[in-house]
Amino acid sequence: MPQPQTNPPFAIAIHGGAGTILKANMTPELEAAYLDGMRQSLAAGYDILDRGGAALDAVQAAVNAMEDSPLFNAGKGAVFTHEGVNEQDACIMDGRNLETGAVAVVRHVRNPINLARKVLEHSKHVLLAGEGAEAFARQHGVELVDPSYFHTEQRWQQLQRALDKEREAGGEQTRLDHSDDKRDKIGTVGAVAVDRAGNLAAATSTGGMTNKRFGRIGDTPIIGAGTWADNETCAVSATGVGEYMMRLVAAYDIAALMKYKGFRLIEAADEVIMRKLTALGGDGGVIAIDRSGTITMPFNSPGMYRGYRYPDEEPVVAVYREE
Ligand code: ASP
Repeated sequence: MPQPQTNPPFAIAIHGGAGTILKANMTPELEAAYLDGMRQSLAAGYDILDRGGAALDAVQAAVNAMEDSPLFNAGKGAVFTHEGVNEQDACIMDGRNLETGAVAVVRHVRNPINLARKVLEHSKHVLLAGEGAEAFARQHGVELVDPSYFHTEQRWQQLQRALDKEREAGGEQTRLDHSDDKRDKIGTVGAVAVDRAGNLAAATSTGGMTNKRFGRIGDTPIIGAGTWADNETCAVSATGVGEYMMRLVAAYDIAALMKYKGFRLIEAADEVIMRKLTALGGDGGVIAIDRSGTITMPFNSPGMYRGYRYPDEEPVVAVYREE
């Protein structure tokens, strides 16, 4: 998986986060719920593309579906910061013209990707953060919710485990520990698509990393790191430890390898994720698509929630490496 296809009229791919996702830690019910959540996300995006809609609308709808699910680390299921609140980041990019909207450290926005879309459409800026971003949300009618909306028991317990581990280790680690069990820390949702008009778009939304602090912002809202879309090359959405994706400018690096070195999509994504990210000691993956409809989803972590759909075919969803 997946089977690259050449020149389908349209296509969509999604991810629901990469990390230490092992079958041994999963119940059949939970796995079925994740697969179902991803199918719903694919259906939301696919229907728009099928009706002739824009890739930009499709990726937003696909991300909305996962933001509304408690399972994924974005929107409803966002992880907690060190202080026990939820701070979310999101970015959406239009491959036609490189227009981009991004938000960071928002605490009351039900669907951060919708706010990112408003930034793309109505702001002369690209990235808004914190209280200012929420004031902008109010001006543009984006739904705000009480922080209790984001409270899920599973995420709260993840934070407690992370805090316990930190106490045992004698305080905060100053470096990201690659050997650490990151199961409790990461996750993100994203979508990339090509529409019938041949336009690309990408969207990514995340609660970031459990136990983050000091206003930490990850790769998701940083254009070119966690999100990129350019009709000349590809659309990319990343997941994994954001610090590594930022240092690699991972999403843009895939596009740059295509543009300046003539790499094909699959080669370029493999070079950045399987070689460069691994060499740097980072964990994660990307979903990427080009205008011909080729999709690739490389990751170097044990698992990545992921899926795609081509016209007139069943959606394909997967979790573990061996699928
Ligand atoms: N990339 C996200 C971040 O660093 C987390 C993730 O994808 O798991 O905020």
